[in-house]
Amino acid sequence: MRRLTVLGATGSIGVSTLDVVARHPDRFEVIALSGHRQIDRLAEQCIAFAPRFAVVADTASATRLQALLAGKVGTEVMHGADALERIASLPEVDTVMAAIVGAAGLRPTLAAARGGKRILLANKESLVMAGGLFMREVADHRASLLPIDSEHNAVFQCMPAAGRAGVRRILLTASGGPFRRTPIADLADVTPEQACAHPNWEMGRKISVDSATMMNKGLEVIEAHWLFDTPAEHIDVVIHPQSIVHSMVEYVDGSVLAQMGNPDMRTPIAHALAWPERVESGVSPLDLAAASDLVFERPDLDRFPCLKLAFEALRAGRGTPAVLNAANEVAVAAFLEHRLGFRAIADVIAATLESLPDQPADTLEQVFAADAAARVRAREIIGAIT
Ligand code: NAD
Ligand code: MG
Repeated sequence: MRRLTVLGATGSIGVSTLDVVARHPDRFEVIALSGHRQIDRLAEQCIAFAPRFAVVADTASATRLQALLAGKVGTEVMHGADALERIASLPEVDTVMAAIVGAAGLRPTLAAARGGKRILLANKESLVMAGGLFMREVADHRASLLPIDSEHNAVFQCMPAAGRAGVRRILLTASGGPFRRTPIADLADVTPEQACAHPNWEMGRKISVDSATMMNKGLEVIEAHWLFDTPAEHIDVVIHPQSIVHSMVEYVDGSVLAQMGNPDMRTPIAHALAWPERVESGVSPLDLAAASDLVFERPDLDRFPCLKLAFEALRAGRGTPAVLNAANEVAVAAFLEHRLGFRAIADVIAATLESLPDQPADTLEQVFAADAAARVRAREIIGAIT
């Protein structure tokens, strides 16, 4: 029996996780859930899974959740960032799904590492911000890390069982998002609704915009660097619009191993939940004969400048990826609020990176300082251009 905390239970990944969990009541027990401000959905989840703890953003949300649960389930409701760290490190929990979006996920995910948990990592931003620190905590506390991001889960499945011997390259596939064929001149005017209409995946709004700019793939290159201890030169990005091949590993003998499946996050979630076993996920079987042609192309860095910025940030190292991540979060939020154009997202990130080169990131305090400085700077830049 695995005992779970699901951080970000009310989001796209959280909901898919609970869908898989509900199929296997004999294997998984939910001990704690977090939901920030989506209280109605979190209340339904608490009633369905009867967790011991639920964590929300603030006292107002806590009061609302308590009222919705009264007389139905004995879940203890807590609130705030410390409570997230607490449910990530409970002694009775062995597995933590880290599915909070953005930098807010870093502290609780680190708490799970320090608690020696099996971490199912969806929150790629924590590795982008603090990869070196994070991997050290995982090793020091004998935690384990299983990737949920579909590309990294695919790479994990295609890697040798032990070590990296014979591996030449990691090939991360990318759908290219909704604007793969949009004339570049038209990109300045695309709306948040168009950017969030991903052709293959249903996701939260932030990662949907990241997919449209391909910053998502850039963050994933940095994530792959840390997860698989692989330098930027050995990580390539391939556009594959059908999202059937989820990523590949190339070996020195010329073999390329790919993991395939329908684009449904329940596959990597079920894989990581049950690893090293396999369980039903509810995902329909892949019908290759019915699938359209599988196409692969090189990404166009003029169309997707964010991908280039992320590769550069990885090469620069130190606090630069944290600056990249924070500037991106601020720019994407401004775009979603119609305060910034789509093409300007990359401009804001580039200008922020330029004004904050080589930030230190040896300690968590330094990482958060780089993150905070980048947010201030990005907001100033947005203020100046809008
Ligand atoms: P989402 O927006 O649907 O859900 C985010 C979750 O985080 C919600 O439960 C929300 O309540 C919670 N949350 C938001 N802000 C918070 C804060 N400040 N403090 C605490 N909790 C907060 O996002 P998602 O699409 O489920 O993505 C979650 C993570 O998984 C992201 O890091 C994303 O990059 C990654 N991921 C998602 C997908 C996908 O298919 N959705 C695929 C790969 C990786
Ligand atoms: Mg991904």
